[in-house]
Amino acid sequence: MHQGVVAIIGGGPSGLLAALTLAREGIQTTLIERNPSVGSKLLLSGGGQCNLTNQATIEELLTCYGDNGSFLRDSLTLLPPNKLMSLFTSMGLPLVVKEEGRVFPASHKASDVVDLLYQECLKARVTFKLNTKIESVEHNNATFTLKMGTKEEHYKTLLIATGGATFPHTGSQGDGWRFAKALGHKIVPVHPALSGVRLINSPLTSCSGITVEEATISFNKRQFSGPLLITHRGLSGPLILNASRYFSREQSIKISFLPNPDGVEDRLKKLSAQKGASQLATLIHQLGLPTKLVSSILEEGKIDGRRKAAEVGKKEIKKVVSLLTQMELTVSLKGALKGAMVSGGGVALEEVDPTTLHSKLIKGLFFAGEVLDIDGDSGGYNLQAAFSTGYTAAKGIARLYH
Ligand SMILES: Cc1cc2nc3c(=O)[nH]c(=O)nc-3n(C[C@H](O)[C@H](O)[C@H](O)COP(=O)(O)OP(=O)(O)OC[C@H]3O[C@@H](n4cnc5c(N)ncnc54)[C@H](O)[C@@H]3O)c2cc1C
Repeated sequence: MHQGVVAIIGGGPSGLLAALTLAREGIQTTLIERNPSVGSKLLLSGGGQCNLTNQATIEELLTCYGDNGSFLRDSLTLLPPNKLMSLFTSMGLPLVVKEEGRVFPASHKASDVVDLLYQECLKARVTFKLNTKIESVEHNNATFTLKMGTKEEHYKTLLIATGGATFPHTGSQGDGWRFAKALGHKIVPVHPALSGVRLINSPLTSCSGITVEEATISFNKRQFSGPLLITHRGLSGPLILNASRYFSREQSIKISFLPNPDGVEDRLKKLSAQKGASQLATLIHQLGLPTKLVSSILEEGKIDGRRKAAEVGKKEIKKVVSLLTQMELTVSLKGALKGAMVSGGGVALEEVDPTTLHSKLIKGLFFAGEVLDIDGDSGGYNLQAAFSTGYTAAKGIARLYH
Protein backbone atom coordinates (compact mmCIF):
# COMPACT_ATOMS: atom_id res chain seq x y z
CA MET A 1 0.00 0.00 0.00
CA HIS A 2 1.44 3.38 -1.03
CA GLN A 3 1.50 5.79 1.88
CA GLY A 4 2.06 9.53 1.47
CA VAL A 5 3.61 11.62 4.22
CA VAL A 6 1.45 14.71 4.82
CA ALA A 7 -1.94 15.42 3.24
CA ILE A 8 -3.60 18.80 3.57
CA ILE A 9 -7.28 18.98 2.70
CA GLY A 10 -8.13 22.50 1.53
CA GLY A 11 -6.30 25.05 -0.62
CA GLY A 12 -7.39 28.19 1.22
CA PRO A 13 -4.95 30.55 2.98
CA SER A 14 -4.42 28.20 5.94
CA GLY A 15 -3.79 25.13 3.77
CA LEU A 16 -1.56 26.98 1.29
CA LEU A 17 0.70 28.53 3.90
CA ALA A 18 0.89 25.22 5.76
CA ALA A 19 1.88 23.44 2.53
CA LEU A 20 4.52 26.03 1.69
CA THR A 21 6.00 25.91 5.21
CA LEU A 22 6.12 22.10 5.26
CA ALA A 23 7.62 21.80 1.79
CA ARG A 24 10.28 24.37 2.70
CA GLU A 25 11.12 22.15 5.69
CA GLY A 26 11.72 19.34 3.19
CA ILE A 27 8.61 17.36 4.15
CA GLN A 28 6.73 15.65 1.32
CA THR A 29 3.36 17.41 1.19
CA THR A 30 0.24 16.84 -0.87
CA LEU A 31 -2.46 19.51 -0.96
CA ILE A 32 -5.90 18.30 -2.01
CA GLU A 33 -8.46 20.84 -3.24
CA ARG A 34 -11.93 20.12 -4.59
CA ASN A 35 -11.92 23.11 -6.97
CA PRO A 36 -9.94 23.32 -10.23
CA SER A 37 -7.82 26.03 -8.60
CA VAL A 38 -6.86 27.11 -5.08
CA GLY A 39 -7.92 30.12 -3.00
CA SER A 40 -11.49 30.70 -4.26
CA LYS A 41 -12.58 32.47 -1.06
CA LEU A 42 -9.28 34.33 -0.77
CA LEU A 43 -9.99 35.80 -4.23
CA LEU A 44 -13.21 37.35 -2.88
CA SER A 45 -11.62 38.70 0.28
CA GLY A 46 -11.69 42.42 0.95
CA GLY A 47 -13.98 42.94 -2.04
CA GLY A 48 -11.30 41.37 -4.28
CA GLN A 49 -8.55 43.49 -2.71
CA CYS A 50 -7.63 41.08 0.13
CA ASN A 51 -7.28 42.66 3.55
CA LEU A 52 -4.71 40.05 4.50
CA THR A 53 -3.86 41.16 8.02
CA ASN A 54 -3.94 44.04 10.45
CA GLN A 55 -0.91 45.88 11.74
CA ALA A 56 -1.87 45.38 15.39
CA THR A 57 0.03 44.10 18.41
CA ILE A 58 -0.62 40.56 19.59
CA GLU A 59 -2.48 41.87 22.66
CA GLU A 60 -4.72 43.99 20.42
CA LEU A 61 -5.27 41.07 18.05
CA LEU A 62 -6.31 38.75 20.85
CA THR A 63 -9.29 40.99 21.64
CA CYS A 64 -10.61 40.62 18.08
CA TYR A 65 -11.67 36.97 18.23
CA GLY A 66 -14.48 37.09 20.80
CA ASP A 67 -14.32 34.73 23.76
CA ASN A 68 -11.92 32.26 22.05
CA GLY A 69 -9.09 34.69 21.27
CA SER A 70 -6.69 33.34 23.90
CA PHE A 71 -6.43 30.02 22.01
CA LEU A 72 -4.63 31.92 19.24
CA ARG A 73 -1.89 33.38 21.46
CA ASP A 74 0.71 30.77 20.46
CA SER A 75 -0.15 30.83 16.74
CA LEU A 76 -0.15 34.62 16.61
CA THR A 77 3.15 34.71 18.49
CA LEU A 78 4.72 32.24 16.07
CA LEU A 79 3.46 34.17 13.02
CA PRO A 80 2.45 37.70 14.07
CA PRO A 81 1.31 40.29 11.50
CA ASN A 82 4.78 41.82 11.04
CA LYS A 83 6.31 38.39 10.30
CA LEU A 84 3.46 37.57 7.90
CA MET A 85 4.01 40.90 6.16
CA SER A 86 7.77 40.27 5.88
CA LEU A 87 7.04 36.83 4.48
CA PHE A 88 4.90 38.30 1.70
CA THR A 89 7.29 41.15 0.91
CA SER A 90 10.27 38.76 0.86
CA MET A 91 8.40 36.69 -1.75
CA GLY A 92 8.01 39.83 -3.89
CA LEU A 93 4.56 41.12 -2.93
CA PRO A 94 4.64 44.78 -1.82
CA LEU A 95 2.01 45.67 0.79
CA VAL A 96 0.25 48.84 1.91
CA VAL A 97 -1.15 49.69 5.33
CA LYS A 98 -4.43 51.58 5.19
CA GLU A 99 -6.86 53.06 7.70
CA GLU A 100 -7.26 51.24 11.02
CA GLY A 101 -4.08 49.25 10.34
CA ARG A 102 -5.65 47.18 7.54
CA VAL A 103 -2.98 45.62 5.31
CA PHE A 104 -3.50 44.95 1.58
CA PRO A 105 -1.29 43.97 -1.36
CA ALA A 106 -0.11 47.24 -2.94
CA SER A 107 -1.75 46.12 -6.19
CA HIS A 108 -5.07 45.75 -4.32
CA LYS A 109 -5.52 42.45 -6.12
CA ALA A 110 -6.40 39.36 -4.10
CA SER A 111 -5.40 37.33 -7.16
CA ASP A 112 -1.77 38.44 -6.62
CA VAL A 113 -1.84 36.84 -3.15
CA VAL A 114 -3.36 33.61 -4.45
CA ASP A 115 -0.98 33.38 -7.44
CA LEU A 116 2.06 34.06 -5.26
CA LEU A 117 1.19 31.38 -2.69
CA TYR A 118 0.43 28.85 -5.41
CA GLN A 119 3.63 29.56 -7.37
CA GLU A 120 5.78 29.46 -4.22
CA CYS A 121 4.20 26.12 -3.26
CA LEU A 122 5.00 24.74 -6.72
CA LYS A 123 8.59 26.01 -6.43
CA ALA A 124 8.89 24.29 -3.04
CA ARG A 125 7.57 21.06 -4.65
CA VAL A 126 4.18 20.77 -3.02
CA THR A 127 2.12 18.15 -4.88
CA PHE A 128 -1.31 19.51 -5.80
CA LYS A 129 -4.33 17.33 -6.37
CA LEU A 130 -6.91 19.75 -7.76
CA ASN A 131 -10.48 18.90 -8.75
CA THR A 132 -10.33 16.31 -6.00
CA LYS A 133 -13.08 16.28 -3.42
CA ILE A 134 -12.42 14.26 -0.29
CA GLU A 135 -15.62 12.42 0.59
CA SER A 136 -14.59 10.89 3.90
CA VAL A 137 -11.64 10.31 6.22
CA GLU A 138 -10.84 7.23 8.29
CA HIS A 139 -8.04 6.54 10.73
CA ASN A 140 -6.74 3.01 11.29
CA ASN A 141 -3.33 1.64 12.29
CA ALA A 142 -1.73 5.10 12.44
CA THR A 143 -2.82 5.81 8.85
CA PHE A 144 -5.37 8.25 7.46
CA THR A 145 -7.41 6.93 4.56
CA LEU A 146 -8.90 9.64 2.35
CA LYS A 147 -11.75 8.56 0.08
CA MET A 148 -12.23 10.43 -3.18
CA GLY A 149 -14.78 9.05 -5.66
CA THR A 150 -13.85 5.44 -6.37
CA LYS A 151 -10.24 5.93 -5.21
CA GLU A 152 -8.62 6.15 -1.81
CA GLU A 153 -5.22 7.35 -0.63
CA HIS A 154 -3.27 6.80 2.58
CA TYR A 155 -1.21 9.31 4.56
CA LYS A 156 0.71 9.29 7.83
CA THR A 157 -0.30 12.82 8.81
CA LEU A 158 -3.41 14.85 8.00
CA LEU A 159 -4.10 18.57 8.23
CA ILE A 160 -7.76 19.51 7.87
CA ALA A 161 -7.92 23.05 6.45
CA THR A 162 -11.33 22.95 4.80
CA GLY A 163 -12.58 26.33 6.06
CA GLY A 164 -16.12 26.97 7.29
CA ALA A 165 -19.45 26.94 5.47
CA THR A 166 -20.05 30.49 4.28
CA PHE A 167 -20.12 31.39 0.56
CA PRO A 168 -20.42 27.63 -0.14
CA HIS A 169 -19.87 28.08 -3.89
CA THR A 170 -16.21 28.76 -3.03
CA GLY A 171 -15.89 25.13 -1.88
CA SER A 172 -16.09 25.63 1.89
CA GLN A 173 -19.17 23.58 2.75
CA GLY A 174 -18.50 22.33 6.26
CA ASP A 175 -16.90 19.03 5.14
CA GLY A 176 -14.05 19.40 7.65
CA TRP A 177 -16.49 19.33 10.57
CA ARG A 178 -17.95 16.09 9.23
CA PHE A 179 -14.45 14.58 8.98
CA ALA A 180 -13.46 15.80 12.45
CA LYS A 181 -16.68 14.44 13.96
CA ALA A 182 -16.15 11.04 12.31
CA LEU A 183 -12.67 11.01 13.87
CA GLY A 184 -14.17 11.61 17.32
CA HIS A 185 -13.85 15.40 17.66
CA LYS A 186 -16.53 17.57 19.22
CA ILE A 187 -18.01 20.27 16.97
CA VAL A 188 -19.27 23.47 18.58
CA PRO A 189 -22.60 24.34 16.88
CA VAL A 190 -21.95 26.41 13.80
CA HIS A 191 -23.48 29.86 13.38
CA PRO A 192 -22.95 32.89 11.15
CA ALA A 193 -20.37 35.45 12.29
CA LEU A 194 -19.55 38.73 10.55
CA SER A 195 -23.04 38.64 9.17
CA GLY A 196 -25.83 41.04 8.33
CA VAL A 197 -29.18 40.21 9.96
CA ARG A 198 -32.85 40.29 9.02
CA LEU A 199 -35.23 42.36 11.11
CA ILE A 200 -38.47 40.74 12.20
CA ASN A 201 -41.36 43.21 11.76
CA SER A 202 -38.96 45.94 10.73
CA PRO A 203 -40.15 49.51 11.22
CA LEU A 204 -37.19 50.61 9.06
CA THR A 205 -38.02 49.11 5.65
CA SER A 206 -38.22 52.50 3.94
CA CYS A 207 -34.72 53.42 5.24
CA SER A 208 -32.79 50.90 3.13
CA GLY A 209 -29.32 52.24 2.24
CA ILE A 210 -29.12 54.70 5.15
CA THR A 211 -25.93 54.67 7.24
CA VAL A 212 -25.94 55.88 10.84
CA GLU A 213 -22.45 57.07 11.76
CA GLU A 214 -22.39 55.90 15.36
CA ALA A 215 -25.13 53.67 16.67
CA THR A 216 -25.04 51.46 19.76
CA ILE A 217 -26.76 48.14 20.30
CA SER A 218 -27.20 46.30 23.59
CA PHE A 219 -28.29 42.73 24.26
CA ASN A 220 -27.48 40.04 26.86
CA LYS A 221 -25.29 42.46 28.87
CA ARG A 222 -23.15 43.15 25.78
CA GLN A 223 -22.79 46.50 24.05
CA PHE A 224 -21.35 47.39 20.63
CA SER A 225 -20.96 50.77 18.94
CA GLY A 226 -20.04 51.72 15.38
CA PRO A 227 -21.42 52.52 11.93
CA LEU A 228 -24.80 50.92 11.19
CA LEU A 229 -26.17 50.23 7.71
CA ILE A 230 -29.91 49.75 7.24
CA THR A 231 -30.57 47.24 4.45
CA HIS A 232 -33.78 46.35 2.61
CA ARG A 233 -34.36 43.35 4.89
CA GLY A 234 -32.54 44.30 8.06
CA LEU A 235 -29.28 45.65 9.44
CA SER A 236 -25.61 45.42 8.51
CA GLY A 237 -22.43 47.54 8.67
CA PRO A 238 -19.39 47.08 10.94
CA LEU A 239 -21.47 47.39 14.13
CA ILE A 240 -23.76 44.48 13.23
CA LEU A 241 -21.05 42.36 11.57
CA ASN A 242 -18.87 42.42 14.67
CA ALA A 243 -21.79 41.84 17.08
CA SER A 244 -23.35 39.03 15.03
CA ARG A 245 -21.17 36.25 16.47
CA TYR A 246 -22.99 36.76 19.79
CA PHE A 247 -26.57 36.83 18.43
CA SER A 248 -28.86 33.91 19.07
CA ARG A 249 -30.96 32.74 16.12
CA GLU A 250 -33.63 35.26 17.11
CA GLN A 251 -32.23 38.04 19.22
CA SER A 252 -33.93 41.00 20.90
CA ILE A 253 -31.72 44.06 20.84
CA LYS A 254 -32.02 47.67 21.98
CA ILE A 255 -30.63 50.20 19.59
CA SER A 256 -29.55 53.80 20.00
CA PHE A 257 -29.32 55.67 16.71
CA LEU A 258 -27.38 58.48 18.39
CA PRO A 259 -24.03 58.64 20.21
CA ASN A 260 -24.04 59.45 23.95
CA PRO A 261 -27.64 58.27 24.47
CA ASP A 262 -27.73 59.57 28.06
CA GLY A 263 -27.45 63.17 26.88
CA VAL A 264 -30.06 62.98 24.09
CA GLU A 265 -33.03 64.08 26.21
CA ASP A 266 -31.22 67.21 27.40
CA ARG A 267 -30.02 68.01 23.87
CA LEU A 268 -33.53 67.69 22.46
CA LYS A 269 -35.08 69.77 25.26
CA LYS A 270 -32.47 72.48 24.73
CA LEU A 271 -33.11 72.58 20.98
CA SER A 272 -36.84 72.65 21.61
CA ALA A 273 -36.47 75.61 24.03
CA GLN A 274 -34.32 77.50 21.49
CA LYS A 275 -36.40 76.70 18.40
CA GLY A 276 -39.90 76.01 19.67
CA ALA A 277 -41.48 77.09 16.37
CA SER A 278 -39.61 74.40 14.42
CA GLN A 279 -41.19 71.07 13.62
CA LEU A 280 -40.28 68.24 16.01
CA ALA A 281 -38.93 66.16 13.09
CA THR A 282 -36.62 69.00 12.03
CA LEU A 283 -35.11 69.22 15.51
CA ILE A 284 -34.50 65.48 15.66
CA HIS A 285 -32.86 65.70 12.24
CA GLN A 286 -30.60 68.40 13.71
CA LEU A 287 -29.41 65.89 16.32
CA GLY A 288 -27.69 64.20 13.38
CA LEU A 289 -30.13 61.68 11.88
CA PRO A 290 -31.25 61.44 8.23
CA THR A 291 -34.78 62.78 7.61
CA LYS A 292 -36.13 59.47 6.31
CA LEU A 293 -34.96 57.64 9.43
CA VAL A 294 -36.49 60.32 11.66
CA SER A 295 -39.84 59.85 9.87
CA SER A 296 -39.74 56.07 10.32
CA ILE A 297 -38.84 56.35 14.00
CA LEU A 298 -41.66 58.84 14.67
CA GLU A 299 -44.10 56.73 12.67
CA GLU A 300 -43.18 53.72 14.82
CA GLY A 301 -44.10 55.74 17.93
CA LYS A 302 -47.23 57.14 16.22
CA ILE A 303 -45.91 60.64 16.86
CA ASP A 304 -46.71 63.49 14.48
CA GLY A 305 -43.34 65.03 13.60
CA ARG A 306 -44.95 68.03 11.89
CA ARG A 307 -46.03 69.51 15.21
CA LYS A 308 -44.21 72.54 16.57
CA ALA A 309 -41.57 71.46 19.08
CA ALA A 310 -42.90 73.86 21.73
CA GLU A 311 -46.25 72.05 21.64
CA VAL A 312 -44.80 68.62 22.37
CA GLY A 313 -45.23 67.65 26.02
CA LYS A 314 -42.59 66.17 28.35
CA LYS A 315 -44.12 62.70 28.18
CA GLU A 316 -43.96 62.65 24.41
CA ILE A 317 -40.38 63.96 24.40
CA LYS A 318 -39.49 61.03 26.65
CA LYS A 319 -41.18 58.64 24.23
CA VAL A 320 -39.24 60.13 21.30
CA VAL A 321 -35.97 59.85 23.24
CA SER A 322 -36.73 56.26 24.11
CA LEU A 323 -37.31 55.43 20.42
CA LEU A 324 -34.11 57.20 19.42
CA THR A 325 -31.92 55.61 22.06
CA GLN A 326 -33.61 52.36 23.10
CA MET A 327 -35.70 51.13 20.20
CA GLU A 328 -36.47 47.46 20.71
CA LEU A 329 -35.97 45.28 17.66
CA THR A 330 -35.74 41.57 16.97
CA VAL A 331 -33.03 40.40 14.59
CA SER A 332 -32.89 36.99 12.96
CA LEU A 333 -29.91 34.97 11.74
CA LYS A 334 -32.12 32.44 9.96
CA GLY A 335 -30.56 31.60 6.60
CA ALA A 336 -27.63 33.96 7.24
CA LEU A 337 -24.78 31.40 7.28
CA LYS A 338 -24.36 31.17 3.50
CA GLY A 339 -24.02 34.92 3.13
CA ALA A 340 -21.93 35.54 6.27
CA MET A 341 -18.23 36.28 5.88
CA VAL A 342 -17.13 33.80 8.53
CA SER A 343 -18.54 30.78 10.35
CA GLY A 344 -18.54 30.79 14.13
CA GLY A 345 -18.34 27.44 15.93
CA GLY A 346 -16.41 24.46 14.56
CA VAL A 347 -13.81 22.03 15.91
CA ALA A 348 -13.88 22.41 19.72
CA LEU A 349 -10.68 24.08 20.89
CA GLU A 350 -10.28 22.11 24.11
CA GLU A 351 -9.46 19.02 22.02
CA VAL A 352 -6.67 20.74 20.06
CA ASP A 353 -3.21 21.70 21.36
CA PRO A 354 -2.88 25.48 20.81
CA THR A 355 0.93 25.38 20.47
CA THR A 356 0.97 22.87 17.58
CA LEU A 357 -2.71 22.56 16.49
CA HIS A 358 -2.28 18.81 16.94
CA SER A 359 -5.43 16.91 17.86
CA LYS A 360 -5.38 15.81 21.49
CA LEU A 361 -7.38 12.74 20.44
CA ILE A 362 -5.56 11.37 17.38
CA LYS A 363 -1.82 11.42 16.78
CA GLY A 364 -0.97 12.86 13.38
CA LEU A 365 -4.21 14.84 12.96
CA PHE A 366 -3.98 18.65 12.78
CA PHE A 367 -6.43 21.52 12.15
CA ALA A 368 -5.95 25.04 10.80
CA GLY A 369 -8.08 27.99 9.72
CA GLU A 370 -11.80 28.54 9.92
CA VAL A 371 -12.55 24.85 10.52
CA LEU A 372 -11.55 25.61 14.14
CA ASP A 373 -13.99 27.32 16.52
CA ILE A 374 -12.39 30.70 15.81
CA ASP A 375 -13.84 33.76 14.12
CA GLY A 376 -12.47 37.28 14.07
CA ASP A 377 -13.76 40.81 13.64
CA SER A 378 -13.61 42.45 10.25
CA GLY A 379 -10.26 44.14 9.50
CA GLY A 380 -7.90 41.37 8.31
CA TYR A 381 -8.16 39.31 11.51
CA ASN A 382 -9.66 36.20 9.90
CA LEU A 383 -6.97 35.86 7.26
CA GLN A 384 -4.30 36.53 9.90
CA ALA A 385 -5.80 33.69 11.98
CA ALA A 386 -5.90 31.40 8.92
CA PHE A 387 -2.26 32.15 8.02
CA SER A 388 -1.02 31.91 11.63
CA THR A 389 -2.79 28.62 12.33
CA GLY A 390 -1.68 27.17 8.97
CA TYR A 391 1.91 28.11 9.75
CA THR A 392 1.70 26.80 13.33
CA ALA A 393 0.16 23.50 12.25
CA ALA A 394 2.98 23.08 9.70
CA LYS A 395 5.59 23.70 12.41
CA GLY A 396 3.72 21.25 14.64
CA ILE A 397 3.76 18.60 11.90
CA ALA A 398 7.44 19.27 11.20
CA ARG A 399 8.20 18.42 14.84
CA LEU A 400 6.94 14.89 14.16
CA TYR A 401 9.44 14.47 11.34
CA HIS A 402 12.64 16.19 12.54
C1 LIG B 1 -16.73 37.64 0.81
C2 LIG B 1 -15.68 37.42 1.85
C3 LIG B 1 -14.71 38.39 2.06
C4 LIG B 1 -13.74 38.21 3.06
N1 LIG B 1 -12.79 39.17 3.23
C5 LIG B 1 -11.86 39.02 4.20
C6 LIG B 1 -10.83 39.98 4.36
O1 LIG B 1 -10.68 40.93 3.58
N2 LIG B 1 -9.96 39.80 5.40
C7 LIG B 1 -10.05 38.73 6.26
O2 LIG B 1 -9.25 38.64 7.18
N3 LIG B 1 -10.97 37.76 6.07
C8 LIG B 1 -11.87 37.88 5.06
N4 LIG B 1 -12.80 36.89 4.87
C9 LIG B 1 -12.71 35.64 5.67
C10 LIG B 1 -11.58 34.75 5.11
O3 LIG B 1 -11.62 34.73 3.71
C11 LIG B 1 -11.71 33.32 5.65
O4 LIG B 1 -11.77 33.36 7.05
C12 LIG B 1 -10.51 32.48 5.19
O5 LIG B 1 -10.53 32.32 3.78
C13 LIG B 1 -10.51 31.10 5.84
O6 LIG B 1 -9.40 30.41 5.34
P1 LIG B 1 -9.32 28.81 5.39
O7 LIG B 1 -8.03 28.44 4.78
O8 LIG B 1 -9.60 28.34 6.76
O9 LIG B 1 -10.54 28.29 4.52
P2 LIG B 1 -11.06 28.62 3.05
O10 LIG B 1 -10.48 29.87 2.52
O11 LIG B 1 -12.53 28.52 3.14
O12 LIG B 1 -10.48 27.42 2.18
C14 LIG B 1 -10.89 26.08 2.38
C15 LIG B 1 -10.62 25.30 1.11
O13 LIG B 1 -10.91 23.92 1.35
C16 LIG B 1 -11.51 23.36 0.20
N5 LIG B 1 -12.30 22.19 0.60
C17 LIG B 1 -13.35 22.17 1.45
N6 LIG B 1 -13.84 20.93 1.57
C18 LIG B 1 -13.07 20.13 0.77
C19 LIG B 1 -13.10 18.75 0.46
N7 LIG B 1 -14.03 17.92 0.97
N8 LIG B 1 -12.16 18.25 -0.38
C20 LIG B 1 -11.23 19.08 -0.94
N9 LIG B 1 -11.18 20.40 -0.69
C21 LIG B 1 -12.09 20.93 0.16
C22 LIG B 1 -12.37 24.49 -0.33
O14 LIG B 1 -12.69 24.31 -1.69
C23 LIG B 1 -11.51 25.72 -0.05
O15 LIG B 1 -10.71 26.05 -1.17
C24 LIG B 1 -13.77 37.04 3.87
C25 LIG B 1 -14.74 36.06 3.64
C26 LIG B 1 -15.68 36.24 2.64
C27 LIG B 1 -16.71 35.16 2.41
